[in-house]
Amino acid sequence: MMKSEITRRNFLEKTAYTAAATLTLGYLLAGCKSEGDAGATKGAGDTKKQAASGDFSCNDVSGLNDADKATRESLKYVDKTPDPAKPCDGCALYTQPTGGAQCGGCTVVKGPIHPKGYCTAWAPKPA
Ligand code: SF4
Repeated sequence: MMKSEITRRNFLEKTAYTAAATLTLGYLLAGCKSEGDAGATKGAGDTKKQAASGDFSCNDVSGLNDADKATRESLKYVDKTPDPAKPCDGCALYTQPTGGAQCGGCTVVKGPIHPKGYCTAWAPKPA
């Protein structure tokens, strides 16, 4: 009959294996977390790329009343100017974005205004 006995050597070997397995699992889980963090960073990078390329929308007019929406439409506001020489950020009526926002504003057209947008009220900035 075989006698099951926990010797000091067996105990130390099993403890060492368990510790190694725990460290390996922790390392793998940390690696997964790092990939997630990298994804978040990539997302932030994508946002920066969007801002640099102007590939974002300033067409959320849900906060505007009907009159302001009508003005926006009658002045034919668009997010992308048809004339590169006349973007909103080159217009005298444009107001810069605040608080880290991408969209600015306008003293005539209410709601979010794309820096590279345009409307028929475009006016050059004074020299
Ligand atoms: S007036 Fe028109 S072109 Fe000028 S900033 Fe306002 S929306 Fe843009």
